[in-house]
Amino acid sequence: MQRAYHILNNTYGYADFRLNQRDIIGSLLQDHDVLALMPTGGGKSLCYQIPALVRDGVGIIVSPLIALMQDQVDALLQLGIRAAYLNSSLNYGAVQRVERELLAGEIDLLYVAPERLLSEKMLPLLERLHSTIGISLFAIDEAHCVSQWGHDFRPEYQQLSMLAERFPGVPRIALTATADQRTRQEIIEQLRLQRADIYVNSFDRPNIHYTIQQGQQARQQLWQFIDANHSQDAGIMYCLSRKKVEDTAAWLAQQGRTALPYHAGMDADTRRNHQQRFLREEGVIIVATIAFGMGIDKPDVRFVAHLSLPKSIEAYYQETGRAGRDGLPANAWMAYGLQDVITLRQMMLESTASEQQKRIEHHKLQAMLGLCEMTTCRRQALLSYFGEPTPQPCGNCDNCRNPPEVWEAAVAAQKALSCVYRTGQRFGVNYIIEVLLGKDDERIRQFRHEQLSTFGIGKEHSDAEWRNIFRQLIALGYLTVDVDGHGGLRLTDNARPLLRGEIELHLRKEQKRERVRRDRVRGDPVAKPRFNRDTMPIEVEALWEALRALRLRLAQEQGVPPYVIFHDSTLLQMADERPQTLEAMRGIAGIGERKLTQYGQAFLDVVSAALVL
Ligand code: ADP
Ligand code: ZN
Repeated sequence: MQRAYHILNNTYGYADFRLNQRDIIGSLLQDHDVLALMPTGGGKSLCYQIPALVRDGVGIIVSPLIALMQDQVDALLQLGIRAAYLNSSLNYGAVQRVERELLAGEIDLLYVAPERLLSEKMLPLLERLHSTIGISLFAIDEAHCVSQWGHDFRPEYQQLSMLAERFPGVPRIALTATADQRTRQEIIEQLRLQRADIYVNSFDRPNIHYTIQQGQQARQQLWQFIDANHSQDAGIMYCLSRKKVEDTAAWLAQQGRTALPYHAGMDADTRRNHQQRFLREEGVIIVATIAFGMGIDKPDVRFVAHLSLPKSIEAYYQETGRAGRDGLPANAWMAYGLQDVITLRQMMLESTASEQQKRIEHHKLQAMLGLCEMTTCRRQALLSYFGEPTPQPCGNCDNCRNPPEVWEAAVAAQKALSCVYRTGQRFGVNYIIEVLLGKDDERIRQFRHEQLSTFGIGKEHSDAEWRNIFRQLIALGYLTVDVDGHGGLRLTDNARPLLRGEIELHLRKEQKRERVRRDRVRGDPVAKPRFNRDTMPIEVEALWEALRALRLRLAQEQGVPPYVIFHDSTLLQMADERPQTLEAMRGIAGIGERKLTQYGQAFLDVVSAALVL
C-alpha cells in the first residue's frame, strides 16, 4: 500500500485517494477479485492502474472502445507510465512491436478490445506472458456490457468469463458506472465474480445540474440555454435521427459555434476527424446520435444537451454523466416533446428484438418518461432508480430551484381518455384533439365522429394545452401509443380508475423557463480554487487565458488533447494560487513528477509574467 501511495503522489500528483479507491487497490493487492461501481468521474482508472503498477507483470485492460485507446495511452505516457494498446487500428508492424515490448517486460499496462483478447492469436500470447513476465491483473472496463438487461449489451463480453478458468490466480476487477441491482447481478454471474469484493460508490454527480423542459420550440430553447450558460464551452448534444444531427449541427454553426455532426451514416474518416477535433480543440460542440460517447473521457465537457428523449434512465444517466468529469459545475439539459415518444416507440416496435426484449425496452421508456414529467427533485428520483434513496431534495435541479406549478387535471384527463375510447382506440393524438376541440373536418365527418358525446367537449383548452395533457397521460402510463405504423392511442389498465373518477390527477403546467445558474454547486471538486470558471475575478482571467494558451500550444506540438497536458481544474488551481517555485507547483493537484519536469518551468514563466502585470 505504501507503494500505491507513492505512485499516487509522485506519478499522478494527487494528495489522497478518493472514496473506495484505497480499499479497491488493497483488495487487488491481496489477490482478490473486485467489482467496482462508481459514477463517471469517480476515478475508476486509478483503481486498476495503480495496483497493476505495484504488482509484478503486465496489467491487461479490456475496454470496448478502440477509438479512445490512443488517448488513454497518451495520457498515461504523459505521466511516465509504460502503456500500450492492441487493436485493429494498428498495422502489422506496430502490433509486432507491441508484442515484442510486452514479452521483453517493457510495458506495464496494455489496453485491448474484447474481440481482440478472445482472438486465436491473443490468447497464446497472454499465456506466454503469464508464464514469463507475469500478468498483474485483468481489468474489465464498462462491465455492464456483459448484461442483456443493461443497455449496451455486447455478446463478446460474456466470453470474458473464460479469464477465470484460464488464468486462475490473476485478480480481476470489473468496473462500471451504470448498474442497477439486476445488471450488477448479471455482471457477477456472467463474469464469475461470486467471490469478488464489491464496492459501490454513491452514484450521485453533485456538480451536474439537471433540467428537463418540454420542447415546443426546442431550438430556441436550446439556443437560449447555450448562449446564456455555455458561450465558449465544449458540449455534447444528442439527437435521435441522423437528419436531426445534421440539421442541428448546421444550425449551430450558423449561430457562430464550432459544431460537428457525428453519426453512423458518416464515413469513418470524417467521424474520427470530428471526434479528434472535439477532444483536441477547445469549445467544440459535437452533435451526435446516441452512438457517440461511450468511453469519452474528456474531463471538461461542460454540458450535455438532449434534443431527443433517451431510451432509458440508464442511457440518460450515462450520457449526461459525460458532463463535468473534472468535478467542476456542469449542466445536463433536455427538451423533449410528444413526437419523441411516438418516434421512439415506433423504433422499438420495428426493431428485430425479441418480444421479451421489447417489453423491457417499453418498461424502461416509461420510467424515463416518468422522470421527465415528475414535479419533485430529479436527482432523488434518479438515485432512487439506481437503488440509492436520498432523504433530501438536492437543490441543484430545475424542479428544486424552480418548482413547477401543477393543476387538478382529472376532468380534462377523463375527457381525453373517453374521447380515445369512443373513437375506437385507433387514432393518433392530432385527430383526437380535433375531435375534442370540435373541429369541422372532413375525416371527422367521414367517421361520423361529430356525433360522439365527446365531440367539442374540450374547448376550454387550446391545442397546445391538449398536447401537453396527452404527453403527460402517455408518460404517466394512462395511454399507450400503439404503433402499427399509425401511432394510435389506446387506454391502459391504469386508465380505468381515472375514468371512473376514483383518483385525482395533478399535471404540470406549461413550464416557466429557467435560466440555469451554475454558481451554487455542492460537491467536492477535484481541486478547490476559490472560484470556478464563471465566478473568476477579472484580474485572474488574463492569467487563466494565458495558461490555457500555453496548454493548447503544448498539446498541439505533441498531437494530444489539451486535457492530457493538464485538466482545467489544475489550471484553475494554478491561476488561483500562482505558484512561484517548482516546489509550490508540485502542490497542485494533477502535477506529478514527470509533468513537473516536462512543463513546470513553462507554466511558472507564464505565472510570473502575469505577476509583473
Ligand atoms: P471514471 O473512469 O470513473 O469516469 P477517471 O478515472 O477518468 O474516472 O477519473 C476522473 C477524474 O478524476 C480524472 O481526471 C482523474 O485524474 C481524477 N482523479 C481520479 N482519482 C483522483 C484522486 N485520488 N485525486 C484527484 N483526482 C483524481
Ligand atoms: Zn433536485
